[in-house]
Amino acid sequence: MYDSIIIGKGPAGISSAIYISRSNLKVLVIGKNETALNKAHVIENYYGFEKPITGEELFEKGIQQAKNQNIKVKNDEVIDIIWDNDKFIVKTVNSEYESKTVLLATGKSRNSAKIEGIKEFEGRGVSYCAICDGFFYRNKKIAVIGNGEYAIHEAKILKNVSEDVTIFTNGRELPQNRSIEITNFVEGKIDSIRGKEKASKIVLNDNTEYEIDGIFVAEGTASSIDFAKKLGIFLENNNIKVDENMQTNIPGIYAAGDCTGGLLQISKAVYEGTKSGLSIAKKLKNI
Ligand SMILES: Cc1cc2nc3c(=O)[nH]c(=O)nc-3n(C[C@H](O)[C@H](O)[C@H](O)COP(=O)(O)OP(=O)(O)OC[C@H]3O[C@@H](n4cnc5c(N)ncnc54)[C@H](O)[C@@H]3O)c2cc1C
Repeated sequence: MYDSIIIGKGPAGISSAIYISRSNLKVLVIGKNETALNKAHVIENYYGFEKPITGEELFEKGIQQAKNQNIKVKNDEVIDIIWDNDKFIVKTVNSEYESKTVLLATGKSRNSAKIEGIKEFEGRGVSYCAICDGFFYRNKKIAVIGNGEYAIHEAKILKNVSEDVTIFTNGRELPQNRSIEITNFVEGKIDSIRGKEKASKIVLNDNTEYEIDGIFVAEGTASSIDFAKKLGIFLENNNIKVDENMQTNIPGIYAAGDCTGGLLQISKAVYEGTKSGLSIAKKLKNI
């Protein structure tokens, strides 16, 4: 079991890992290569670089710095975090790990799918959490909107409550090497979600209509907001709410960097990563 698992290998995640590891604790960083940093062509305002550096280079340097300090950094996608009695289980596309604490350092959350009706029917047939709300749709017609491993993971959970689960990719392709065989999927672009009291149909651009009882949105990679909704972590303006130790309202779950909102800058991500790392070390060592 790890002392801490960090989700995200950007400036916040790597900084936290360095402080946890230097406290002689067992830490694992799991992250993908999509980061805000890779979009930053030139960085000139971060301390210590006499010449501009590209975001991509800084990202790679951070990962290498951690590896040089014998910190394990895995390239993988986290699809679920589960609290199990006295530990967290972190599920990825390829494996699962146990940990005493978890840090969300997943960067700024993307917006939900921009589909007409999606916001209007939130909580009335549109959900973001299969494990929380799946039960309400047992033996019903369920749609999952998304086209990545996260959507497949949510569909798999929903298959436990209903055989009638369809993935709507909204005009995109499913991954070729997907982790489970999905038999029902619709690849057309979605025009809107419609209904009266609650969502009752998905309408495609070509006017094809699909009757549904419940829709689960699982776009792209699971974000801090998706994890928060599953675990009951408090949000504020769609950012993770943390206390002065970077801990969320769920003991043992911390957050740092862009996902907590405020200033979206590397220096702030490094600061919060550092602070979370020290807080996690203090908690685990009972200081
Ligand atoms: C175009 C652009 C230009 C910028 N220019 C500057 C600048 O000049 N100076 C400056 O200070 N800041 C700049 N920024 C902001 C800076 O990039 C961010 O503030 C910083 O990268 C935030 O660090 P972070 O660690 O919080 O998140 P990120 O760097 O976004 O890292 C998030 C990590 O989490 C991973 N992740 C997310 N979800 C999952 C999941 N489910 N499973 C596994 N891994 C996951 C991602 O793959 C990534 O590894 C810029 C941002 C952009 C978009």
